[in-house]
Amino acid sequence: MDARVNLLDLDLEGLAAFCEGLGEKRFRATQLYRWIHQRGASQFEAMTDLARSLRDKLATRAEVRALPVISEHTSADGTVKWLFDVGGGNAVETVFIPEVDRGTLCISSQAGCAVGCRFCSTGHQGFSRNLTTGEIVAQLWFAEHRLRAVGGHTERRIDNVVMMGMGEPLQNYGALVPALRTMLDDHGYGLSRRRVTVSTSGVVPMIDRLRTDCPVALAVSLHAPDDVLREHLVPLNRKYPLAELLAACQRYLDAAPRDFITFEYCMLDGVNDTPAHAQALVELVQGRAEASRGVGAVRCKFNLIPFNPFPASGLVRSPRERVLAFAEVLQQAGIVTTIRKTRGDDIDAACGQLAGEVQDRTQARERLSQRRAVFDIVPAAAPRP
Ligand code: SAH
Ligand code: SF4
Repeated sequence: MDARVNLLDLDLEGLAAFCEGLGEKRFRATQLYRWIHQRGASQFEAMTDLARSLRDKLATRAEVRALPVISEHTSADGTVKWLFDVGGGNAVETVFIPEVDRGTLCISSQAGCAVGCRFCSTGHQGFSRNLTTGEIVAQLWFAEHRLRAVGGHTERRIDNVVMMGMGEPLQNYGALVPALRTMLDDHGYGLSRRRVTVSTSGVVPMIDRLRTDCPVALAVSLHAPDDVLREHLVPLNRKYPLAELLAACQRYLDAAPRDFITFEYCMLDGVNDTPAHAQALVELVQGRAEASRGVGAVRCKFNLIPFNPFPASGLVRSPRERVLAFAEVLQQAGIVTTIRKTRGDDIDAACGQLAGEVQDRTQARERLSQRRAVFDIVPAAAPRP
């Protein structure tokens, strides 16, 4: 067991405390944090404006622990997907989605997931373990600096982060919050609060905690307009039914009056995709379905996700016309609705696909070692040719 502290585990406060423990002033922590997150440095030797004595101390007591990269796939549309080895035969995925005016990174929070949604291949794998803060941050750290190095860019590549990879982020709350702080910190990645999105299947008490601890944008995976269907698709609904979930969404928005909730809705053929389901959703989010339980309207947008099929699910993607008709019902009711573009189809960059290949843990270790490749980031301090 390596006793060295992984500096990716620490937000700026944590790093300041660590530096103070080494007898260093607080501003040294800021310098160090900027080297790591803004410049992508992992070698203390390269941090030339830090005193030699500090660099030596850091070299024995700390490290910037990157995740080993198993594979990197780039799609024809520019989407990049990485598979990272998190040990014990487990892998997590991270996806970069370039758009005309911005880049979005989709990050994982757990190896596997305990929620077990019917339509999700991560859910079908079961739960392995929580990622540490350092493992969550390592995905952004690696992707940002790898993308800069590959394209010869000096400016930022990633403007948005969505916690929509593998795992339920609000069931890994303790590790999540410091990671979010590093994403938001001006000395870290400097992302705005509205450009960091936590997506949840509805862990009500943690929605409330996030509101006070770190109120970033919130996406809630709804998938059904009533409790009977939602329990079937998202088993967590038994613990936190829709009335409680929507009330938590309202409380979240009370703290952020200019914001809205993004409701995600995975379109499953013949399961949740009729105009009647759409109408029931309108009633629900406009506060008519649960009014008797005191739940009012929730300011929201809808994001309809065409189901990304995998054999074990036994489910099928809704036909395009049905998705359009569904969107039409929501839009007619005045709800802003988008249909997620399927990106990176040629590299299986949608939800849970590549990591699904290593879900058979008995052989996973062997396959991981066969597929592992090593990617070096060009250190930011190194002169570019
Ligand atoms: N656990 C969190 C975040 C990760 S899943 C959550 O459930 O919100 C991110 C999004 O992908 C969720 O909205 C989830 O419902 C959706 N998703 C999962 N499997 C999918 C699939 N096979 N096809 C389409 N969307 C899927
Ligand atoms: Fe977990 Fe989200 Fe997949 Fe449900 S959809 S099993 S909560 S990762």
